Amino acid sequence: MNYQEILNAIYHQIKSKPNDGELPSYIPELARINPEKFGISLQFLTGEEYEIGDAHEQFSIQSIAKVFAFSLAISIVGKKIFERVGVEPSGNAFNSLVQLEYEKGIPRNPFINAGAIVVADILISNLPNPAMDLLTFIRKAAGKEIIYNEQVYQSEKKTGFRNAALANMLKSYGNLENDVDKVLDLYFRLCSISMSCNELATSFKYLCNGGVNPKSNEQLLSLSQTKRLNALMQTCGFYDEAGQFTYKVGLPGKSGVGGGIIALYPEKFTIAVWSPKLNPKGNSLRGMKALEQFTTDSQLSIF
Ligand code: GLU
Repeated sequence: MNYQEILNAIYHQIKSKPNDGELPSYIPELARINPEKFGISLQFLTGEEYEIGDAHEQFSIQSIAKVFAFSLAISIVGKKIFERVGVEPSGNAFNSLVQLEYEKGIPRNPFINAGAIVVADILISNLPNPAMDLLTFIRKAAGKEIIYNEQVYQSEKKTGFRNAALANMLKSYGNLENDVDKVLDLYFRLCSISMSCNELATSFKYLCNGGVNPKSNEQLLSLSQTKRLNALMQTCGFYDEAGQFTYKVGLPGKSGVGGGIIALYPEKFTIAVWSPKLNPKGNSLRGMKALEQFTTDSQLSIF
């Protein structure tokens, strides 16, 4: 199979069509990104790598970082984490207040905003320097220096009223141990991480490889935790469009409102795509199309 040819064809075909969708204006810093950016990085565990377009340009990975935060939290507290956050798809918007109230302060899953805010709280309760420790975890996964983007962090901090409402509601239900502002601060930081498609595809290899970073051989998660993480990405990784993504693409993955998507085939490969314009559910429109085309052309879906 000539994977480079497959990527080239997908890239040019998608580029030749109108660039539909919207930039996420509710985070001002993200609305300033050039909507024409488009990159793909495909990396096999065997070491083969293929890429096209803006695969080395860093962008705001947003909710994709929730996978790292949850990985770190479960590696510290284990199954106890599920006393405070569920494992069911949301079926509602990722920032729904109604759902959190309806479910009495236990977020449906760790990838909706309320769930990730609880995960941030767990990190604060268990780590001496949670923001730095989270970066250290991500750097271990990526094998390189990764940073928080100060502008995106400030932009979200200034405009994150809905996340503040979610955090306050969690606190009112007794599902936050720490100070609301402190928890929100870590949440906004984790959403502000910048990475490229190339870095994302590399850093998700531990989830493709039974929890072990294939480059350093470091065990970041146990085999069982890795199974849970991949299952959660499959069922909850795409807001309330996880069913569509599973149906069209057929890989576990996670998207972010910065227009990035990471997906993986356990034991085989990781693939990251970035295109900033989003569909109404908050997923990268071209990114979804590219991945659907990729698993169709390569016949590499887990189903
Ligand atoms: N920082 C975004 C928010 O809190 C994350 C959303 C996302 O990427 O899903 O709304």
